[in-house]
Amino acid sequence: MTESLAGQTVETVRRKLTARFKSGAIDQAELDARILVGAALGLDLTGLIAAAARPVTSDQAMRLEDFARRRLAGEPVARILGTKEFWGLPLQISAATLVPRPDTETVVELALEMLRAEPHPERRLRIADIGTGSGAILLALLSELTDAYGIGTDVSVAALRIARRNAARLGFASRAAFIACDFAAALSESFDLMVSNPPYIRSADIAGLAIEVRDHDPLMALDGGADGLDAYRALIPQAARRLAPGGILVVEAGHDQSGDIEELMTAAGLTQQKPPKADLAGIRRAVAGRKLPP
Ligand code: SAM
Ligand code: GLN
Repeated sequence: MTESLAGQTVETVRRKLTARFKSGAIDQAELDARILVGAALGLDLTGLIAAAARPVTSDQAMRLEDFARRRLAGEPVARILGTKEFWGLPLQISAATLVPRPDTETVVELALEMLRAEPHPERRLRIADIGTGSGAILLALLSELTDAYGIGTDVSVAALRIARRNAARLGFASRAAFIACDFAAALSESFDLMVSNPPYIRSADIAGLAIEVRDHDPLMALDGGADGLDAYRALIPQAARRLAPGGILVVEAGHDQSGDIEELMTAAGLTQQKPPKADLAGIRRAVAGRKLPP
């Protein structure tokens, strides 16, 4: 049993929580403690500093104890808060969605670099995000390409509900649609840009993932089959059929998958005009192929 946090100052509580998280071997103990104290007290960073000497009420202490218990049990901060920032956009998440990762911003960056290097088409750009989860990639692209419209697909109806809600909250409802289907199977129009961060973890590697991922991200969002490439094998040929001439497919890759993905793209008739783009850790994270006009 840990001593009660009620009645102690905000600063003391923050330090105690940091210490508990450190002894619980939580990587970013200090950051996580600060965010959770802020959330339990309804204060941002500036508010927290201003309130440093204020005592914590028993309601606030109870809320914080609940957050701390969940974090120590391996639940990531984003799930405790129900929200995660991606590409500067606050996104709601749920048990049905992956927590969007900073690595995935590499997919957005490569797609934007390629689109911006070419003349803008007369018509509005059409985008599809395959396995959209919270809607992260699609909504980031819509925030940059202000007259584009896009469709997100997912097999999880519960994830699509969150994606739709995120689109509405961010003001993109009129430019975003979401449909439940297997990868791109139900898409009938053609797209200028298709993106995907599919499940790509080898089934046998899932047991060894960090508890934050293994026990909290949906298995359906992670499991890429025996060699991790099942989703690419299914979605790359489907996407190649749905790309407009000149259209681009950009997918996220696992740490050692970019070569295999390039081969799958080539086999589906897509051409590599740009090398894979590395993430901040130097991993080839985003792979692009283009459907050349006939
Ligand atoms: N795009 C989101 C992101 O980057 O945060 C989520 C990516 S998550 C790694 C993969 C997503 O693909 C999950 O939302 C999962 O439900 C979805 N998915 C898995 N199998 C699928 C399939 N056969 N067809 C469509 N979506 C699928
Ligand atoms: N990036 C996630 C992880 O490393 C995996 C997501 C995926 O399979 N696309 O755990």
